[in-house]
Amino acid sequence: MKRILVTGGAGFIGSHLCERLLNEKNEVLCLDNFFTGSKSNIVHLLNNPYFELVRHDVISPFFAEVDEIYNLACPASPIHYQYNPIKTTKTSVMGAINMLGLAKRIKAKILQASTSEIYGDPEQHPQKEDYWGHVNPVGIRACYDEGKRCAETLFTDYKIQNNVRIKIARIFNTYGPRMHPNDGRVVSNFIVQALEGKPISIFGKGNQTRSFQYIDDLVNALILLMNTDDSFTGPINIGNPKEFTIMELAEKVIKMTGSKSEIKFYPLPSDDPNRRQPDISLAKKTLKWEPIVPLEKGLKKTIDYFKNTI
Ligand code: NAD
Ligand code: UDP
Repeated sequence: MKRILVTGGAGFIGSHLCERLLNEKNEVLCLDNFFTGSKSNIVHLLNNPYFELVRHDVISPFFAEVDEIYNLACPASPIHYQYNPIKTTKTSVMGAINMLGLAKRIKAKILQASTSEIYGDPEQHPQKEDYWGHVNPVGIRACYDEGKRCAETLFTDYKIQNNVRIKIARIFNTYGPRMHPNDGRVVSNFIVQALEGKPISIFGKGNQTRSFQYIDDLVNALILLMNTDDSFTGPINIGNPKEFTIMELAEKVIKMTGSKSEIKFYPLPSDDPNRRQPDISLAKKTLKWEPIVPLEKGLKKTIDYFKNTI
């Protein structure tokens, strides 16, 4: 039985990861400050004697004896990470320093939830891990993008300088049950708007693209990555390479919910990436993994979830 710390464990991805790790007979310590996560995401785990919940902010040091750390703590949706941008950078950078310091001290393996946002508005398409990115360091997304980039630097340097066993996962847009209904991300926004009969808000013309990965595919990949040899550190892209325009997503959601919502256009926020699609050759080769849940199937499960919660 491994003892595993999941920071940001009460969030969307973290709660699914905690659940899977418990099902695989591990002991799970879930750490969260509940900024965007909530107890309702993990309430069903609280009776499990192998699950522990700690209210803590990763910008302060934390001590525990564990074998592995998944570092997920950080608001992930633009409206949440832009709400207090200084705190967002602190969470990524100081959170990484604190968790890496802990990993170094207790000799734990540590995985960083990095992001496709480190590629910014990419000039290379699809994006490969050796692409350095195109990020505006003073734009409205910088607190998140640059914070995550700096965290990757810290992970790499703790490996080089202190031989900490690190893994860096560059996660592409992921969706599924337990997304926050008001967190502003496109999949949850469109589903909630469609179910409530409100206009579907498209930013820009809707011809920008994203590649959407269902949560179960991501959780599989994160665990496979954690279990790779110490010599493999990443960064590694984890995402679904099937690319859709935002307009296509809106049409799919309207059709699948049977909604009468109309589409309403709003200005495109600044620095909004125009295209995004992962090259997952490295993940296929190293993890023997690729996503298996098609968009329609994942959307159906997510729509069912929101029907029951909103
Ligand atoms: P989320 O907002 O649902 O979860 C983040 C969790 O971290 C929340 O429970 C929040 O309360 C917690 N948290 C935030 N700041 C904290 C702090 N200072 N101390 C302790 N806990 C804190 O978002 P998510 O979609 O589950 O994302 C989880 C991780 O995955 C994030 O690091 C995010 O950057 C990364 N990621 C997510 C996506 C995606 O599409 N969902 C894509 C790329 C990367
Ligand atoms: N988007 C949109 N309507 C919304 C929310 C988002 O058109 O109600 C667009 C947004 O401008 C972006 C894409 O959908 O181009 C994905 O946005 P999201 O915030 O989900 O993720 P990210 O931009 O971080 O990839």
